[in-house]
Amino acid sequence: MGKVLITTEMFPEELERLADAGHRVEAPERGRFPREEILDRIRDADALICLLSDRVDEELLARAPRLKAVANLGVGVDNIDLAAATRRGIPVTNTPEVLTETTADLGWALLMAAARRVVEADRDLREKGFPGWTFIPPHLGVDVYGRTLGVVGLGRIGTAVARRGRGFCMRVLYHSRTRKPELERELGLEYAPLDRLLSESDFVVLTVPLTPETRHLIGERELKLMKRDAVLVNIARGPVVDEAALARALKGGTIRAAALDVFEREPEVHPELLPLRNVVLTPHIGSATWATRRKMAELAVGSVIDVLAGRRPPNLVNPQAWKGT
Ligand code: NAP
Repeated sequence: MGKVLITTEMFPEELERLADAGHRVEAPERGRFPREEILDRIRDADALICLLSDRVDEELLARAPRLKAVANLGVGVDNIDLAAATRRGIPVTNTPEVLTETTADLGWALLMAAARRVVEADRDLREKGFPGWTFIPPHLGVDVYGRTLGVVGLGRIGTAVARRGRGFCMRVLYHSRTRKPELERELGLEYAPLDRLLSESDFVVLTVPLTPETRHLIGERELKLMKRDAVLVNIARGPVVDEAALARALKGGTIRAAALDVFEREPEVHPELLPLRNVVLTPHIGSATWATRRKMAELAVGSVIDVLAGRRPPNLVNPQAWKGT
């Protein structure tokens, strides 16, 4: 029995589950609580269900003497100071698996949109009308089928992206911290060091978590290694790409196009990206389908109910913090 602070509006059935388990819930009816309100409401909270846009840092944790659980509504936990939570013995959970295929689908939607200039063509049609079929239209794109896909970070989402590449008869290269011989065999993948992957791929999809090692993994040097006709897709986290360098590369023709679901300083988008026609921009909607958001909510609420009942939750990100039964 305790107070559960949810920083975002939540599906009613999940609010009911928490109430049925005897918990008192504070959540906004619409949208999300601003930081100041979270800092205020956290003081007597026993559990926190939060978004990747909420910073769970020293400042917040120091104000939360009763806090026993943090459930992140997302798989990436770069918004959470895990060391600080662990020092305080607070279990942190995330929502892996349930969003894998949905996020891979968006990666492919972006890849296809950038390759075939779908967004540009749609915008032109609405703004300028359809001038009639032309043989050499302004929206000539590049083929996807049979070309080379490079996946950076062969985890759950990266593997799902690579699997889809097989359906398009692509040669699929991957780069990851560790080699995956079984997946290489099963999916016909080829391991490549990052530089080779960048120089040989027609499409590069980023699916690494944001860590000190992956911050600006793709910068000016790496963009220059890519083919002039290549497309870069980022469905990982914004700071994995040096956005200013990417804007310069897109403007100067170093690469053909990019598609970004995530940004370096969300919700801000680099102002030099906005006017460019050869970049597709979506507002961090990788996991945004009804079914997946419901599953993410179910998992996060289930984790909080577990921890507050003394049960070890699935998807514990910091097992060192677990002292329960
Ligand atoms: P995951 O299963 O942990 O996969 C991440 C992979 O990246 C792992 O396989 C890991 O390596 C690899 N990796 C880590 N550090 C690396 C490095 N320095 N160099 C090369 N490879 C490295 O996670 P996931 O579930 O696929 O999710 C991946 C990320 O996608 C999340 O962390 C999140 O930031 C992002 N995401 C975005 C959205 C969105 O809305 N756009 C939605 C969901 C997730 P090894 O396995 O090789 O050791």
